[in-house]
Amino acid sequence: MTEKGLKVVVIGGGIGGLFAANALIARGFQVSVYEQASNLGEVGAGVFLTPNSVRQLQRVGLGPAVEKFGAGVGSGSQYLRHNGAPIAPVQVTDSAGWNAAFGMHRADLVEILATALPTDVVHTGYRCNGCKQSGDVARVTFANGAVAEGDVVVAADGIHSALRHEVTPPSHPVFSGSVAYRGVIPHERMPSWSTKSWLMWLGKGKHFLTFPVRAGQLINYVGFVPADEEMKESWSAPGDPDVLRGEFAGWDPRIESLLSQVSATFRWALYDREPLPTWSRGRLTLLGDAAHPMLPHLGQGANQSIEDGMALATILARANRKTVATALLAYEGLRRERVASIQRGARENGLRYDSANPDLGVRDAQMAAHAAFRRRLYDHDVVPEAEAAALGLG
Ligand SMILES: Cc1cc2nc3c(=O)[nH]c(=O)nc-3n(C[C@H](O)[C@H](O)[C@H](O)COP(=O)(O)OP(=O)(O)OC[C@H]3O[C@@H](n4cnc5c(N)ncnc54)[C@H](O)[C@@H]3O)c2cc1C
Repeated sequence: MTEKGLKVVVIGGGIGGLFAANALIARGFQVSVYEQASNLGEVGAGVFLTPNSVRQLQRVGLGPAVEKFGAGVGSGSQYLRHNGAPIAPVQVTDSAGWNAAFGMHRADLVEILATALPTDVVHTGYRCNGCKQSGDVARVTFANGAVAEGDVVVAADGIHSALRHEVTPPSHPVFSGSVAYRGVIPHERMPSWSTKSWLMWLGKGKHFLTFPVRAGQLINYVGFVPADEEMKESWSAPGDPDVLRGEFAGWDPRIESLLSQVSATFRWALYDREPLPTWSRGRLTLLGDAAHPMLPHLGQGANQSIEDGMALATILARANRKTVATALLAYEGLRRERVASIQRGARENGLRYDSANPDLGVRDAQMAAHAAFRRRLYDHDVVPEAEAAALGLG
């Protein structure tokens, strides 16, 4: 039972912070979210929600919204060679009793998560620049001079987290050598494109992904290519559609035809971090990319941030003011190894996707066997584990 009045300050209004706020409020906490930007929002690209997070979104009552604004992904999903030759089907839905997977526009997901919150929860224009703890309270300071106090502070402020150094020794983001071009194309411009399939083409040093979003009205694409020095330094920047087209010239004609419709694109340099040795100190903990930035090659960064939020809310619900710090240690103890294995798995899968193995037959067999790995990701339900981890906190 949640101790009445326990107050949680969440830093960052991205997917991780907003989902955590929903999960915490569902458990009866008083929650405030502080976001540095003047408005909530997300880039014009997709995010693939897998069953392990869809079941958590359903738990906080967002299942109908996900079904309405997402695009259910299933039949026809495939891994392909760069020229379109099939490698293996991708099982992403339901024969094993999973919830379905959904392609979502990121802005739609942020909107759904934010709209579900009471109106006074999210505060925009608050850039956090510090957190101090004394006795029973944690105090967060902001660049605009404001101060927020809480029993718990959750830093969900992304890969460059302003509070990470408070809980763990400094470390540098690790550059993968690749950038991702991302964008969406109206389906009406490509009417024969499947609105049900997740499709991944694998070539030498590059790969290309598509899936539908916004109830199939848009096709999301991501083109992963090697980076030059300028791309590495810029983190994210507008991309040149002709450069993108050039990168995938000679691939499956379906990709060329899709990219012929691109008039603007954006690119991201892909960074992760080595798994962190600790996530929490006292009343402060990390969540989402602040705790475990990962490469997108298992499509799990946002999904894991949603698992984090549900784990945190479930464990904190058993805590009181005196046991908050122990509860946060239980949360990180539960989450750290799972996400570290996914961080490592994403790096390894990126090598498979980029055809690093000279024997493509071996690689193709690994992709065919990948269904078993996906099952371990997707079958996972963080709630029973979190309940077990919280035993004894009350
Ligand atoms: C190319 C690409 C494709 C991807 N595809 C997928 C996918 O299909 N599925 C998936 O699960 N994941 C995917 N990911 C990963 C996913 O985007 C991230 O893991 C996820 O968005 C992390 O969410 P977050 O809320 O933890 O962090 P963020 O999204 O980074 O949000 C952090 C928020 O905190 C705010 N903030 C930062 N600093 C401060 C501060 N000092 N004070 C206040 N606010 C602050 C920021 O403005 C931001 O709103 C992909 C990533 C990339 C690069």
